[in-house]
Amino acid sequence: MKILVINCGSSSVKFKVFEMPEGEIIAGGNVEKIGEEISIFKWKTKEKETKKELKITSHQEALKLISETLTDEKAGVVKEVNEIKGVGHRVVHGGEGFEKSVIIDENVIKRIEEYIDLAPLHNPHNLAGIKASMKYFPESLQVASFDTAFHTTIPEVAYLYAIPYELYEENRVRRYGFHGTSHRYVARRYAEIGGKGKYEVNVITCHLGNGCSITAVKNGHSIDTSMGLTPLEGLVMGTRSGDIDPGIIFYLEERKGYSVKEINNLLNKKSGLLGISGYSNDFRNLMEKKDSDKRASLAIEIFCYRLKKYIGSYMAVLGKVDAIIFTAGIGENVPYVREKSLENMEMFGIEIDPEKNKETVGKEGKISTEKSKVDVYVIPTNEELAIASDTYQFIISKQKQETQ
Ligand code: ADP
Repeated sequence: MKILVINCGSSSVKFKVFEMPEGEIIAGGNVEKIGEEISIFKWKTKEKETKKELKITSHQEALKLISETLTDEKAGVVKEVNEIKGVGHRVVHGGEGFEKSVIIDENVIKRIEEYIDLAPLHNPHNLAGIKASMKYFPESLQVASFDTAFHTTIPEVAYLYAIPYELYEENRVRRYGFHGTSHRYVARRYAEIGGKGKYEVNVITCHLGNGCSITAVKNGHSIDTSMGLTPLEGLVMGTRSGDIDPGIIFYLEERKGYSVKEINNLLNKKSGLLGISGYSNDFRNLMEKKDSDKRASLAIEIFCYRLKKYIGSYMAVLGKVDAIIFTAGIGENVPYVREKSLENMEMFGIEIDPEKNKETVGKEGKISTEKSKVDVYVIPTNEELAIASDTYQFIISKQKQETQ
């Protein structure tokens, strides 16, 4: 059964077609620079990879292009659009309302619209993708998977901020957390590797990509995570500051003449690894200059130090920890970050095997010693496969219901 997975950003649509239940990718690609003079369309199948420049003005046009290419006589992978049985959509903010992936209907669309206030940079584009997909894949089951869903099990004590309670009651200001599909995927995969039930593991999952977040998972459920009301809180990221003293905002506004808009841009786009190093948000570039550039080195060390503090605090929160898991671009590819963030933690039962750590790059593997009480794993994330699996499960249950 073929399932299409779609991830709409502000000016891009990424997509993959999976053969389920095998999970094999049969095609994929992306449309980039939507709305600019020249947009780029990349299309990849097992046989071929192509790149085209053309003008795409909206997400709707991008979805039209994707449906036409999928069914193209020469380049395509299906004859008819209705061979795509389901379309799974990544939706960033599901607020408190969505604890799991859901089949999309008018009511779900309305509720995603209600959360635009909380995710103005993401939800409108996710919605545009959903609406276009309903038009160009009218017979497919449309499913939404929320970045926030996995975190809806976080208890009050961890999701409330120490600000007037009315702000929660009236405006729903609280921690929501993001990257949930990724944290869930690697936590479940760890349980699978060890032959344990998915609700039998306590793990700390570190998603370190462009955006970074860390989650404490108890008995398979998220009980705390570092991102908050927005993805700005927590770890140091590519261009986001992560945790800061909120007093900095008032200092900049009241004393230094920054506008709130400028501060927003500064904390989201100009901080993090980029802000400290002064030249790059990409870990590859920073690692190249680690020994020659003081600020590149500082950016790396601050990144690892903040990560270590969070790992320590989540160990305290969980009590018993089966594993620490690293995933996403930096987590999967940078042994130094794993070594540094877990160094001198033998008294907590954590011992990394330096050789295994060094050789586990871009692949799954255990990097702790046999003696280590806590397992340390690298598990490549696969958010799209998790979304495809959820979509597939809905279709199978629906088919079962119909035959009963
Ligand atoms: P996203 O959060 O956009 O999905 P990724 O998970 O792809 O991002 O992670 C992107 C980041 O991972 C890059 O900015 C880069 O810093 C880092 N990264 C990816 N590959 C490597 C590598 N081989 N070595 C070092 N850093 C890498």
